[in-house]
Amino acid sequence: MNLTLNSTKCEYNKPSIEFYGYIFSNDGVSLDPKKVEAFQQISAPQNPTEHATPKAISLDDIKTATVNDPTLQHLTKAIRTGNWTVTPIQGNIGVDPQEMNAYFKLRNEITVSIENDLLLKGTRIILPAPLRSHALSLAHEGHQGLVKTKRLLREKVWFPGIDAQAKSMIKKCVPCQAATPTKHHEPLQMTKLPDFCEPLPIGDYLLVVINEDSRYTEVEILNSTSTKATMPKFHKILSTHGIPIEIKN
Ligand SMILES: [Zn+2]
Repeated sequence: MNLTLNSTKCEYNKPSIEFYGYIFSNDGVSLDPKKVEAFQQISAPQNPTEHATPKAISLDDIKTATVNDPTLQHLTKAIRTGNWTVTPIQGNIGVDPQEMNAYFKLRNEITVSIENDLLLKGTRIILPAPLRSHALSLAHEGHQGLVKTKRLLREKVWFPGIDAQAKSMIKKCVPCQAATPTKHHEPLQMTKLPDFCEPLPIGDYLLVVINEDSRYTEVEILNSTSTKATMPKFHKILSTHGIPIEIKN
């Protein structure tokens, strides 16, 4: 009996691109007109004939929504006054205490425009709630998977839970799943234990490993069929040729 390796589709040690697009913004405590301008150009629809193509969000859209968002208006006050209390008084109607909590943790990174109509976390615009799903759709255009979607978002905007929301959106999207490179390698699957040739006249065994595609064959002589004797030989073959996606016998 033979042991057959199929080593045609192995992918490993792929460089991670997980961290592309991060903006570390130590200096991002002021309004950068270039960043603001860049946001206006976010993902203009490439294909106007495509159905339901989301339209770009303009800076005016953000300003209007920021002024009308009770939580963000409360945030501007908190940033200016240092008073972060959310009490159920009339003026706080619609303020989301959980979201205020998230902002509080990042208070040193948040800046507010003079007109109270724009908030930044570092160099990223804090999106008012009504525009968030729209921004996710924009970044998701083209179905390029999670890494690129998050990158697009990171370049321009932020809101509490943005990464988790992007992740759950992509997770539900079949085209994105297809576009996302497999991160984890298929585990080495062994259907049965390898079989060995009958003992040789001197009492040894032959471990025969054949690549299914090329028919390249490796033979190792074993003095026993025990795991202890087999595994080092097997390791030797795999370290020479790579780890197969499938092992048949
Ligand atoms: Zn998608």
